[in-house]
Amino acid sequence: MAASLWFRGAAFSRRYWSRRLQPPATNLAAVCSRSMASKTPVGFIGLGNMGNPMAKNLTKHGYPLIIYDVFPDACKEFQDLGEQVVSSPADVAERADRIITMLPTSINAVEAYTGTNGILKKVKKGSLLIDSSTIDPAVSKELAKEVEKMGAVFMDAPVSGGVGAARSGNLTFMVGGVEDEFAAAQELLGCMGSNVVYCGAVGTGQAAKICNNMLLAISMIGTAEAMNLGIRLGLDPKLLAKILNMSSGRCWSSDTYNPVPGVMDGVPSANNYQGGFGTTLMAKDLGLAQDSATSTKSPILLGSLAHQIYRMMCAKGYSKKDFSSVFQFLREEETF
Ligand code: NAD
Repeated sequence: MAASLWFRGAAFSRRYWSRRLQPPATNLAAVCSRSMASKTPVGFIGLGNMGNPMAKNLTKHGYPLIIYDVFPDACKEFQDLGEQVVSSPADVAERADRIITMLPTSINAVEAYTGTNGILKKVKKGSLLIDSSTIDPAVSKELAKEVEKMGAVFMDAPVSGGVGAARSGNLTFMVGGVEDEFAAAQELLGCMGSNVVYCGAVGTGQAAKICNNMLLAISMIGTAEAMNLGIRLGLDPKLLAKILNMSSGRCWSSDTYNPVPGVMDGVPSANNYQGGFGTTLMAKDLGLAQDSATSTKSPILLGSLAHQIYRMMCAKGYSKKDFSSVFQFLREEETF
């Protein structure tokens, strides 16, 4: 099954690049039938590390939920809270005309939307479908086209901020899609984030997200290298971090998410790199950056190297650790 899904995701991508699809036009007549600015149930698919706290923030703002996750245990907490749990994405679409998806990869998103029991099997005309997963922008455009055929609206709205920001409702959403629909999306996304930014046509939210994560990966590796070098030169890691953070090397990876255990509290490096943003997901995002760079003929020398480093980490047992564990990886690579 996994192989066939992978094949479908790849086929989606190929079809896009061969046809160079344009973003779909809005179906305004259909959109008018959707409930707006009301507390009617909102569908939520994918209740993992990010989806769980995001969905909870919707309930805190008074939205009842219709939820689904392939992993039934992920829904249990919501069932206990009195939310409605259903058995497929199609069932979510039957009961809600606004749906948010928060899934790991392009393949999972394709399955949730176009699979045998996918959203598109029962989507209502005028529904607003918001995908907050980080996926290939080309796949977002393909999904938008399929959704449009059903008389509904698709927007990509990937997030930055991690699990902490998802819990506190301080995510940044990067939104792509028809501009007329932005206000409707903002109504829901504003319950989960402090910044909701319109980026342009469908797929541009993903484009912004991919660029941000490529830069994050590069800066995290750079911070880990600098910290490791300084420690081996005899510097105290806390002192070195303090100096970096008052100097021109300062960045989010050094001052907010330092990868060296003992330098900061409340970050994954203080907890054996548990929680946070997984190395596998970072490797996936760098793969998306690599594909996008190839298709747009953009040189990403450091981005490509970062991709190889995170792929190697996955192969060497770091896949379940937070991406800041690149510091530990460098420490253990005695041959470097
Ligand atoms: P996760 O793996 O913790 O959760 C994903 C959930 O989706 C799981 O519960 C899984 O069972 C479910 N799922 C998978 N396929 C499904 C399907 N076909 N139908 C229904 N449910 C399905 O992932 P996450 O950390 O929550 O990340 C989700 C997305 O957000 C990813 O694209 C990731 O790159 C992005 N993201 C994550 C973070 C972070 O810090 N974790 C930060 C920003 C963006």
